[in-house]
Amino acid sequence: MASQKIAILSVYDKTGLLDLAKGLEKQNVRIFASGGTSKMIREAGMNVEDVSAITRAPEMLGGRVKTLHPAVHGGILARNLESDEKDLADQNIQKVDFVICNLYPFKDTVAKPNVTVPEAVEEIDIGGVTLLRAAAKNHSRVTILSDPEDYREFLSELEKGEITETSRQKYALKAFSHTADYDSAISDFFRKQYAGNGVQQLSLRYGANPHQKPASAYVKEGRIPFTVLSGSPGYINLLDSLNAWPLVKELKQSLGLPAAASFKHVSPAGAAIGVALNATERKVYMVDDIEGIEKSALAQAYARARGADRMSSFGDIIALSDKVDVPTAKIISREVSDGMVAPGYEPEALEILKKKKGGKYLVLQMDESYEPAQQEVRTVYGVNLTQGRNDVQITPQGTFNSVVEPKEGADLTEQTQQDLTVATIALKYTQSNSVCYAYRGQVVGLGAGQQSRIHCTRLAGDKADNWWMRFHERSLNIKWKKGVKRPEKSNAIDMLCSGQVPPRSQFEVEDYERNFEEVPTPFTPEERDSWLSKLEGVVVSSDAFFPFVDNVYRAARSGVKYIAAPTGSQNDGAVFDTCKKLNIVFIEQSTRLFHH
Ligand code: 5GP
Repeated sequence: MASQKIAILSVYDKTGLLDLAKGLEKQNVRIFASGGTSKMIREAGMNVEDVSAITRAPEMLGGRVKTLHPAVHGGILARNLESDEKDLADQNIQKVDFVICNLYPFKDTVAKPNVTVPEAVEEIDIGGVTLLRAAAKNHSRVTILSDPEDYREFLSELEKGEITETSRQKYALKAFSHTADYDSAISDFFRKQYAGNGVQQLSLRYGANPHQKPASAYVKEGRIPFTVLSGSPGYINLLDSLNAWPLVKELKQSLGLPAAASFKHVSPAGAAIGVALNATERKVYMVDDIEGIEKSALAQAYARARGADRMSSFGDIIALSDKVDVPTAKIISREVSDGMVAPGYEPEALEILKKKKGGKYLVLQMDESYEPAQQEVRTVYGVNLTQGRNDVQITPQGTFNSVVEPKEGADLTEQTQQDLTVATIALKYTQSNSVCYAYRGQVVGLGAGQQSRIHCTRLAGDKADNWWMRFHERSLNIKWKKGVKRPEKSNAIDMLCSGQVPPRSQFEVEDYERNFEEVPTPFTPEERDSWLSKLEGVVVSSDAFFPFVDNVYRAARSGVKYIAAPTGSQNDGAVFDTCKKLNIVFIEQSTRLFHH
């Protein structure tokens, strides 16, 4: 005759307990239970023995030690091995077949307002976690039930005889998840208590919107890889900073020059390396009065990044690859910007930046040696999504050496490869779909987050055109009214360069014209075409293949001579043919770079 099966019950949540005990009794299972659990079963008139009958030790320390005993855990963990059987026999321990356990309500306790550490500590279950882990570990023999929802199904299987292997596996997984969730609630609580704000976790004012509270940033181990030197970061500030920083780090690593990015809403408005600015560029980018700029490649990189699309950069998060110097800080100090991240700051530069926004300007110092985990996890609508990090390296020689069209004789200069690298690394950190136009070491037009690729190509191309129109004599020589601020100038220049003038309503006319001493004549379509035709040698990169040839036609209108994109479209052949007709070099960039 088979020996009588044994169950150990120790549950905080006693839902369904009596029905379960009844079912176990019916199947002639011998029931042992911890204090409160045993009391409830006994009072219902069923047979139950106290766990102390196995441990031969009373529950002690006010319940801190109830089931923690070799007689309990030996009985749970023993395998059907001769050596294990012998060990049990030597100690007179019985094998346990079923463990039913759920834990103290730690999460509910710490969710209460003003909970103290001693209150939380008392809700840290020790023996229950051990029961769950031990039984789940030995699930090849033992059944572990951690969820009252499973009692009914368990009993119906038991009535038929054995608990199947599949069920034991399912219940074990549930138990492991239960303890993992429990432990992470405990470490979350103590991280907030003991890690110190800014060390392992950082409280944020709110999430994406002011009503999304509470909000925080944290790492599960080690330290947060940045230090807040000034201001207090918001949720979107960090989304921008943590996308912008790897962009500039990679640009610097790949091209060996200081790099800068200007981010808005998790996409770059501009990104660049420190290619020396000529006099016209200094004027267009509104930095011709910055002392010492010609000696700072970092300052020139930021001037380019900010200069690409000054309207979009309004209120940006800036990332810089190098220690911030005074010329760079001076450029930043007079622009409207929300914050910045860099690996270091010269003391004088930091003083300048700390004064910005009445002392509220966000200044983050990034730990340059920080390497993020290979696996990324995010939660969307309660579901965790994981993926390997996009650690593909984009390098001038490694990424752009597969010329598809023309078949022979394409001239890919160092500068072209450099520009392709800038455009492609920028895309790696841009919300998809994305298409980027680059020229002289900088982004000149970037289309982000459009559902249709041609809309990205058009948007980016229109931005590149507007950027180039700013180099026209008329834009360079605007006579501004005294007191017109930099953002207002940028808006008015954008109106002029993007063909939004003459304004339509009288109000709009007044609003536009009040900026000027002498209102600039709008560009005629012929003037625009003529000036745009002077732009040459622009490169385009795309984060995925071009599904239709319209993208190539649009790129060609903005002086594009080189396109790098993944292939794989049914229309690849037509795309290559169109490039050939328009005298554009097509380079296969073999890695798709979607980013969300
Ligand atoms: P009961 O109501 O039966 O007295 O206690 C049940 C609770 O005690 C369960 O939530 C179980 O996880 C927990 N528990 C079981 N054994 C121990 C132990 O040895 N120490 C502690 N701290 N908790 C235990």
